[in-house]
Amino acid sequence: MKIGLIRCMQTEEMCPATRCLDAMRRKKDAFAGVEGDLELVGVTTCGGCPGKKAGQRAAMMLRRGAEAIALASCITKGTPIDYACPFAARLAQVVRAAVGEDVPIFDYTHAPVKKKPSAAASGCRGPRLEA
Ligand code: SF4
Repeated sequence: MKIGLIRCMQTEEMCPATRCLDAMRRKKDAFAGVEGDLELVGVTTCGGCPGKKAGQRAAMMLRRGAEAIALASCITKGTPIDYACPFAARLAQVVRAAVGEDVPIFDYTHAPVKKKPSAAASGCRGPRLEA
C-alpha cells in the first residue's frame, strides 16, 4: 500500500515525523494488520490553520501515487505536545471529500508516547551550576 502522510504544520518544527515513519516501517499502531508492503510516497502538511489546504494536498498525494492517506498523530492525537488540532474533525471531512469514499484514510499514525516526568516534577534535586 502506498501512503501519503499529512501532518500538522504547527508542529513540523518540533517533530521530524520519526514515530510516524517508524510506525509505518514496522507496521504497528495505525498500520498494524496492513497486508503487503507499505511505501511512503510523500509527506506534506495541512497547509496551516485552519487546514483548508488539506483536501488539495490529499488529492495531490493521490496524483503522486498514494493509495491511502494517513493523518499524522500530531493532528488527531496531539503528539508531541499534547495538543490535538482543534480543526481535526473538519480537516478529516475535507480530506474525505477530496479523495472520495474508496480511499482508505488512517486517522492517526502512532500511539501517544508516555512522557517521562521532568526533573522538577519528580522532585529531583540535582547539582546546581554556580554562576
Ligand atoms: S489546522 Fe490543525 S493540523 Fe493544521 S496547522 Fe493548524 S493545528 Fe496543525
